[in-house]
Amino acid sequence: MSRRSRPPHRAAEATPAEPTASRAAAASESLPLPGTRPRVALPVHLPAAAAACVLVAHALLALLLLKEDWPATRLQLLALGAVVGLAVSGGVLWGVGTWLGRRIDRITEVLARTQVGDYTQRVDAGLHDDIGMLARRVNLLVATSASREKRIMESALSDPLTGLPNRTLLSERIRHSLAMSRRSRAPFAVAVLDLDRFKFINDTLGHATGDTVLVEVANRLRQAVRESDTVARLGGDEFVLLLAGGEDAAREVTGRIADAMKAPLHLRDQLIDIGMSIGIAIHPQHGSDDLTLLRNADTAMYRAKRRRAGVEIFDGEQQQEVRRSYLSMLGELRTALEGGQLVLDYQPKLDLTSGLIVGLEGLVRWHHPTRGRVPPGEFIPFAEQTGFMREITRWVVNEGARFAGELASRNLQVSVSVNVSAQDIENPAFSGGIGDTLRELRLEPGRLTLEITESGLLSETENALRNLQSIAALGVRLSVDDFGTGYATLKQLQKLPVHELKVDRSFVSGMNQNRGNQTIVRSTIELGKQLGLRVTAEGVETVAELRALAAMGCHEIQGYYLAKPMPPAEVIAWIEMRHALYASSREAYFKMLVDNATGK
Ligand SMILES: [Mg+2]
Repeated sequence: MSRRSRPPHRAAEATPAEPTASRAAAASESLPLPGTRPRVALPVHLPAAAAACVLVAHALLALLLLKEDWPATRLQLLALGAVVGLAVSGGVLWGVGTWLGRRIDRITEVLARTQVGDYTQRVDAGLHDDIGMLARRVNLLVATSASREKRIMESALSDPLTGLPNRTLLSERIRHSLAMSRRSRAPFAVAVLDLDRFKFINDTLGHATGDTVLVEVANRLRQAVRESDTVARLGGDEFVLLLAGGEDAAREVTGRIADAMKAPLHLRDQLIDIGMSIGIAIHPQHGSDDLTLLRNADTAMYRAKRRRAGVEIFDGEQQQEVRRSYLSMLGELRTALEGGQLVLDYQPKLDLTSGLIVGLEGLVRWHHPTRGRVPPGEFIPFAEQTGFMREITRWVVNEGARFAGELASRNLQVSVSVNVSAQDIENPAFSGGIGDTLRELRLEPGRLTLEITESGLLSETENALRNLQSIAALGVRLSVDDFGTGYATLKQLQKLPVHELKVDRSFVSGMNQNRGNQTIVRSTIELGKQLGLRVTAEGVETVAELRALAAMGCHEIQGYYLAKPMPPAEVIAWIEMRHALYASSREAYFKMLVDNATGK
């Protein structure tokens, strides 16, 4: 019987494309359990038919013998009957033997193919005899082996959470695309996608929520790409896309992805924004192997993250250009530092309990003689890369401390915060330098706060910890800046001698329209309180946000709602005016605070 003509209900003979679990279940239903006997044993009916042939032949001969006119003798007839009977039964037995041999050969062939990983073949079970039962068991064995191997392959090549291909399968597919592209000269793109603030969602809303976000992102990616594209998850919140076609096709697909991610995610009663950055590298111009393409796409992704651009295509020439301009910038930065082109502007911080201005954050600005104002984003990363940050930080700390002294001399109870980098706290001489500055200026240490980004605090090297402890021992306050954008755990925070958490502006601005961000801000405030830390919300832009933060028990706020950063002289006048109003009429002071977006 051919495979095609087999009845479809024979579950053990199902094709490998069918779901393996249901196939195995159906197969086991159609088979007798091990140890039970089949309904009919070995094909005894066939030898029985042969014996019946012999008997019929003898019976016919006996009838003939009764007729006296038959010419042959009885002995001759008996001999003829025996010969005919033997010939018939021999033929039947030969036929049965051949048929059984073919069935066993087929079983052996299927087992041999299974042994080398070919699970597509099945045995036609035929009759319900011993061989038929053996055939069914072989079919069941092939089906379960196929499903087991499929499961093993799937777990080795896919991400268990999202079901997307993993790094191994992705690399294989990139290599396949490279081979195809060498023949056809068709370009393709590798895009790295990273979610913004995912770690914080994971930490504050729980891993189950984090996993749900990842699964949702995976689904949206699957829907946004074309059938020929691959979406892989490399771990954490890092996804990689392998896209057929050149730059235009990559832009089109990533544009669709950006649109798909715009809709916030509804999780129970929360709305979570899924921000993301994508970097793209195109083969052949941006790399001729999988590792280079991934690295360049990664570089472009970080550029997209820095510039908040959403999607960036790797630009090798631009990178060279940036490198060249960096070299000239290094010389210019030295001149800037020595020639007084760097200044600190100060942004006020408001205490939500007293309603008073209690602090200022000093933000470095570069007034370039020909380029005008150079934003910190353009020279701080460069200074960090070239090691020039140490000099800038030394100047920033000295300048901030000097200004804190000036505020003290004017009897203003306002402390000054300055930003220091992760590299600075790695420098073994850093805390010693701070001590020298305090002594030189005779500054009360509590008037100075050092803000260190969350990621900078996590290096946990011996130098960093020793510096942080020495600085805290001096009485200088330490603050975790941009909290929520890094990966600090509760355990790490407990270990560090910090005094303040500054919630990153990306969670605070517009938080009243985003329940997910609101939850993150509330949990950070709770976390700060439990650890005995002050919590400052950065990026407050509306009075509604101010009110919501006050209701949550946030200690301090900072942001454009209160005031933009101002030059030193201006900020002193700004504070003195408010303190004077506070002293004369608190009612008028608070009215101004609530009614007037003074800094705008
Ligand atoms: Mg800061």
